Amino acid sequence: MTTAFISHADCSLHNMGPEHPESPLRLLAIRKVLERTGLMQDLAEYSAIPASTLQIEQAHSRQHRTGLERQQPEEGIFHADDDTALCPDTLNAATLAAGASIQATDLVLSGASQNAFCSIRPPGHHAEQNLAMGFCFYNNVAIGALHALQQPSVQRVAIVDFDVHHGNGTVDIFKDRPEVLVCSTFQHPYYPERYQDIQRDNILNCPLPAYSKPALFRHALEDRWLPALQTHKPDIIFISAGFDAHAEDPMADLELTEEDYRWATELLTDVARQCCNGRIVSVLEGGYNPVALGFSVQAHLEVLAGC
Ligand SMILES: [Zn+2]
Repeated sequence: MTTAFISHADCSLHNMGPEHPESPLRLLAIRKVLERTGLMQDLAEYSAIPASTLQIEQAHSRQHRTGLERQQPEEGIFHADDDTALCPDTLNAATLAAGASIQATDLVLSGASQNAFCSIRPPGHHAEQNLAMGFCFYNNVAIGALHALQQPSVQRVAIVDFDVHHGNGTVDIFKDRPEVLVCSTFQHPYYPERYQDIQRDNILNCPLPAYSKPALFRHALEDRWLPALQTHKPDIIFISAGFDAHAEDPMADLELTEEDYRWATELLTDVARQCCNGRIVSVLEGGYNPVALGFSVQAHLEVLAGC
């Protein structure tokens, strides 16, 4: 059983400007590390297939999708908000990113792959049903999870999110879907300040103060995520894999290292083996220091691939 690595060259054409941290260099940095270390040879590489309109509209309103299509410029940049912008290639990249998550789900549910990592951008976990924000347009992990729930073998799904920012979009989409457990760790108080105080049995928010030590992150996963996952018994686990809680990341103030991401991935692969035959779909979210991002993804993939 292999680990699938799904990406697409056109994901690097989405460009919000030379100063923007969510940069095409991110995916190139990941690929460079995987090729230099030889890890890429242990992965089954796939080119992403675009998501269909129908698949995107499982997670988003038609109004959201058509609104973005109207906003996408034929040249230059259109700012949807202060930090989220469309260029002429944005929605092609976003459709491929969402499609990668669906393709990963199919590979893992069919047994063709043990697990899968989507090396894609734009990221997705801030995108709500009706709102693009925080560098996100379509909620890739949500679109994959909703696709999984349409398969007869899947009754329950878990989404775990260790990005430094809270995945408000994922909570917005699943807040009234008890078959989907959403577990998050995130710096608090911090962007985006939406939904972090929501009270739902299927939403497990674990805020972490700025400058807290990695031990606090590890305790949140062991003491809170792990029992919730064991109780929920998902048929597949999705990871919103953001690596911007890294100590070297310019965006935030947590102090994780690639060894914490390795540890977290080991915990998640262990629980996936217990409850769902090891089925994991991991989808890239944040991570804005390209060097730290490359090493963090390397550690994450070494565990997924059993290297
Ligand atoms: Zn983030």
